[in-house]
Amino acid sequence: MPELPAHASVVIIGGGIVGCSVAYHLAKRGCTDVVLLERRQLTCGTTWHAAGLVGQLRATHSLTELARYTARLYASLEQETGQATGFRQIGSLALATNAERFEELKRGASMARCFGVEAEVLTPSEAATLWPLMETADLVGAVHLPTDGQTNPIDTALALAKGARSHGVRIFEDVRATDIVVQAGRAIGVETTRGRIRADRVVNCGGMWAREIGGWTDVTVPLHAAEHFYIVTEPVAELPATLPVLRDADACSYFKQDAGKLLVGWFEPVAKPWGMRGIPDEFSFETLPDDFAHIEPLLDGAIRRVPVLGRVGVHLFFNGPESFTPDNRYLLGETAEVRDLFVAAGFNSIGIQSAGGAGKVLADWILDGHPPMDLWDVDVRRAMPFQRNRRYLHDRTRESLGLLYAMHWPYRQPATARGVRKSVLHDRLAAAGACFGEVAGYERPTWFAPPGTIPEYRYSYDHQNWFEHAGAEHHAVRHAVGLFDQSSFAKFAFEGPDAEAVLNRICANDIAVPVGQVVYTQWLNERGGIEADVTVTREAETRYLVVTACASQTRDLAWLRRHTPEAARTVAVDVSSAYVVIGVMGPRSRALLQSVTDDDLSNEAFPFATSRIVDLGYARVRATRITYVGELGWELYIPTEFAQSVFDAIVAHGGEHGMRLAGYHGMDALRMEKGYRSWGHDITDADTPLEAGLGFAVAWSKPGGFIGRDALLRQREAGVGRRLAAFVLQEPDRLLYHNEPIWRDGRLVGRTTSGAFGYLIGKPLALGYVTAEASVIDTGFITSGRFEIEVAGERIPATASLKPIYDPAGQRIRA
Ligand SMILES: Cc1cc2nc3c(=O)[nH]c(=O)nc-3n(C[C@H](O)[C@H](O)[C@H](O)COP(=O)(O)OP(=O)(O)OC[C@H]3O[C@@H](n4cnc5c(N)ncnc54)[C@H](O)[C@@H]3O)c2cc1C
Repeated sequence: MPELPAHASVVIIGGGIVGCSVAYHLAKRGCTDVVLLERRQLTCGTTWHAAGLVGQLRATHSLTELARYTARLYASLEQETGQATGFRQIGSLALATNAERFEELKRGASMARCFGVEAEVLTPSEAATLWPLMETADLVGAVHLPTDGQTNPIDTALALAKGARSHGVRIFEDVRATDIVVQAGRAIGVETTRGRIRADRVVNCGGMWAREIGGWTDVTVPLHAAEHFYIVTEPVAELPATLPVLRDADACSYFKQDAGKLLVGWFEPVAKPWGMRGIPDEFSFETLPDDFAHIEPLLDGAIRRVPVLGRVGVHLFFNGPESFTPDNRYLLGETAEVRDLFVAAGFNSIGIQSAGGAGKVLADWILDGHPPMDLWDVDVRRAMPFQRNRRYLHDRTRESLGLLYAMHWPYRQPATARGVRKSVLHDRLAAAGACFGEVAGYERPTWFAPPGTIPEYRYSYDHQNWFEHAGAEHHAVRHAVGLFDQSSFAKFAFEGPDAEAVLNRICANDIAVPVGQVVYTQWLNERGGIEADVTVTREAETRYLVVTACASQTRDLAWLRRHTPEAARTVAVDVSSAYVVIGVMGPRSRALLQSVTDDDLSNEAFPFATSRIVDLGYARVRATRITYVGELGWELYIPTEFAQSVFDAIVAHGGEHGMRLAGYHGMDALRMEKGYRSWGHDITDADTPLEAGLGFAVAWSKPGGFIGRDALLRQREAGVGRRLAAFVLQEPDRLLYHNEPIWRDGRLVGRTTSGAFGYLIGKPLALGYVTAEASVIDTGFITSGRFEIEVAGERIPATASLKPIYDPAGQRIRA
């Protein structure tokens, strides 16, 4: 047995397809001092038994990009390494048996074109020519993706391993990592069954073991294994070798031609979590016991679609474990908790088709110190510490597996493991008819059901059942006053004698402001990309309150701490749970609040973008005059135990002022009318303030500069080639969500990043980036030209603008 080296640049734990891909891509980038440790044998965990589907169209842009790259890589890997992969580009066919599924598929096909993936919408009879063995009487339509493929997972993983080895990567089988060595917050090595290896970076590619591996150093890797089933039939006579992969999502089934046999697999609505007490150490090339009763109803559905299945014997009933995450997206990147510790795990049954892309971008991330593109969808920093809770993961996993083939309704909420994080106002809001949506475990009111209606979602791609109610909340905010529970905001106290100097380097705007001032600002990376979008309130000479979105809590706190120099005399404390936030917004907000406080709320005494402690009811609360809805209003930061009494005091006077309780759907419509950006959607670490139209929040010449200034200056000089614009769709009944293609004069120029209905003008709205043909975009490109937005294959005229459609001069917020 060769000796383990004492040190390596990168140590990878786990020799499944993902670990092999990370090793391969590190080596391709010239980083060859890499050690990969595999507990038993390469592929022995989950990889060996995958069905090998290589689809490319995923729910988001980045997931699709990575899957597309994977398909291209697998197509050439055999030639490059000499190791057969079994990859074949046979295409895939997705079926719709009802109008809503067809709408979903057609919207997906539009998105595919926008992402550069070939897609054609087919009639049932056209689909039948591609898959003659199937029953088509109940079909409404289908979508064909001709460049999708299938591969042999073991051979493909071994090809990646061979490619990695040929560049010098050392792969050790039968060596188990037993601990990760951390010093001063950084991973510096790995303990193994054969001794310690020091390392500059460690990568956790431990598949379904990855949660426990993360736990060694208190890192959150929220995933749970579930049983996953397929069958392989006896040979089917005259099975065409060119059959594309068939997905019948309405029957939870997929079908693949496999050396003259059919492989049929399922994504059932209620899955079976597995490995609740941890994954056995010795688990290797193992299967789980059959459960025919579990798959029987699914098998019946599959036989209805492909009747020949009822006539051939079953050669293999397969059941093997795969890991699933609470939101069905994988976990990638450097962890928030430990520097130089990376993760690539939780692949939700798409690890084969994602491994190429995930390995590539993770290798880039490791070597360059930052992700090569916007990867927020899959970024491990979206994980919340509580999500390691095993009971939570177990219960959510029952649902996650099936969601892969369920309808991907807009605004769809998980049904399991709910009610984990609640504001102290939750019960009051529920009693008032709130319907809740979950973000990072936090239950937030999305809309309020008026008396006589049930606060439950009825999903559709059309107007959902809350459409009117959110509209009424929206109107209340525009014309009277609305009350929002915004407690899910993440809040950080940043305090110490060096707070101003440190925070001013991190913020692109100038936060060296008088006490009581509020500053809207972005945090940029060295490339000028937007890492965070926050408000900063100067509470005292040496103390700031930083407020950011709920979903960014882990990420932004890590960014703040990591960009605080070690010697700086400041400390960042997460005070999210210490404050409830009530937003009181609308032209009557001043009158309403004035009825519960003796402090002067007039414009002169309390101007926009200021903040101070006021009496409210019997409490003292921080009132901050700021808005995300484009109206006069205050966010009230209330110490948690005072929140109920303050809420009651406001509500008691609400009726006099036409107040309505309002939720996040109404808020979204309001912010879209104002063109306010949402981080993670309209702005990401791959977009700069100049591209996003946020140049007004950049303090170019403040003393000491800020992170990202040089890159931004260069871009300002060169001019930007892409720009975020606001769109109004001219057809009121076709709703926009995001990722719809944007056309200008018949040419595809971009895609939408957010969509909502603009209740004020009665038309759908979107924000989205457009890219100019010329390297520099001028305002004429946006204000002239014939714009269209594609919805489910249909191009619909739209108007484009760089200004918000509502109150472009911002007079209402300063009223
Ligand atoms: C029935 C089924 C069908 C599937 N079909 C498809 C499909 O068609 N297409 C698709 O894209 N995906 C599919 N998948 C999913 C796919 O198989 C997985 O997403 C993928 O294999 C995950 O790869 P991985 O490298 O993350 O995990 P694994 O393959 O499990 O690799 C993790 C490795 O880490 C090793 N390890 C763990 N702990 C340690 C330690 N302490 N020290 C050293 N090594 C350690 C393990 O031994 C293991 O080899 C399917 C999965 C199942 C179960």
